[in-house]
Amino acid sequence: MDVHRWATGATSPNGIGKSTAGGIYVNSNYDSGNIEIEDMSEAGNIKLRIHPDPFCETDNVSHAMWFNFRMTNVAGKALTLHINNAGQCSFPVAWQGYQACASYDLEHWFRVPTQYDTDSGVLTIQHTPECDAVQYAYFAPYTYNRHRQLIARTQAKRDVKLLMIGETCDGHDLNLLQLGTPGPGKPNVWIIARQHPGESMAEWFADGLLERLTDSHDAVSRHLLRDACVFVMPNVNPDGTWRGHLRTNAAGINLNRAWAKPCEEDSPEVFHLLRVMDKKGVDMLVDVHGDEELPYCFIAGSEGIPGWSDRLKGLQDGFCAAYKRASPDFQTKFGYGVDAPGEANMTICSNQVAQRFDCLAVTLEMPFKDTADHPEPVQGWSPERAKRFGAALLPAIYEVLPTLRAQ
Ligand SMILES: [Zn+2]
Repeated sequence: MDVHRWATGATSPNGIGKSTAGGIYVNSNYDSGNIEIEDMSEAGNIKLRIHPDPFCETDNVSHAMWFNFRMTNVAGKALTLHINNAGQCSFPVAWQGYQACASYDLEHWFRVPTQYDTDSGVLTIQHTPECDAVQYAYFAPYTYNRHRQLIARTQAKRDVKLLMIGETCDGHDLNLLQLGTPGPGKPNVWIIARQHPGESMAEWFADGLLERLTDSHDAVSRHLLRDACVFVMPNVNPDGTWRGHLRTNAAGINLNRAWAKPCEEDSPEVFHLLRVMDKKGVDMLVDVHGDEELPYCFIAGSEGIPGWSDRLKGLQDGFCAAYKRASPDFQTKFGYGVDAPGEANMTICSNQVAQRFDCLAVTLEMPFKDTADHPEPVQGWSPERAKRFGAALLPAIYEVLPTLRAQ
């Protein structure tokens, strides 16, 4: 890729594949790849580093946590991989209890034994692959190419419009899907995902949601699209996805800290999305993310905004109750602390939208690890579970729909 305006070394933070005496290769030179190679002279002691995002001014750090690379010529070889800068990553505490994801076919992802040493700050993955090639990643990747396929097949469905709302710093398209037809008295429901590109479960979630929402035989989807217009942006940060970032776009902007004053120059993703929201109106928003540390699915609400009211509290409580009924993976016991009145960070999407449109707006979080109350030992939290959790959002939305603007 040579279309880039933001010099960060390479457009994609790729390590170069290297051969060794043993003939093993490591490579991350593709869409969503990320690893640097320090030393791979022994299969039992391979030393790697995660390449950081561009420096992020709002967060005052160069984020790092996302890794995604392929190893080849490894069948039957006992690999020990050390990620030596794990301790300097964005959320080191999140490595505790974490198991790395692996796949042979890039479809089925399973967990492999992983240990984090708090003293040395080294994350160690141990695995003996059964196939010639294996992919290792922080979470099952949802690549930019898979995103393009999702957009292509969804926009070809009945009653779906594709709105190309703008362009990113790297020249990627900003794809917004409109499902159903807007009309007087019809609420506009917005679901956006993956402002933080390393949180790939958010796009798996959007994939499952769109699959159900475009199923013309599904009663919930049929009724929802009769009664509301649904806008879905499955990937708000295609540049970060392509480049293998954890948290920022190509310009080093944490998009979920850009909503108070988005700038067309360095946060065009938010600038254009908010511009279209202002034009169309918002009656409900779910902004989908992944949380590195907490082993739960939960929401962060907008309790701290200046316009918080009994009405918004009733809507948020009603939505949480409805989502719990739709999916036992959703819970309200564990999550972030609630903002004190007036203390909301208005640069965050859900706070800005809740205030600006006086509507129900939440940030939804899924785990990178697993759900502690009902773990799945082989895959942990997975694309399959994120997709079904996305599909389960639809009945919850349908249930609260009549209350969104009720007097
Ligand atoms: Zn996030």
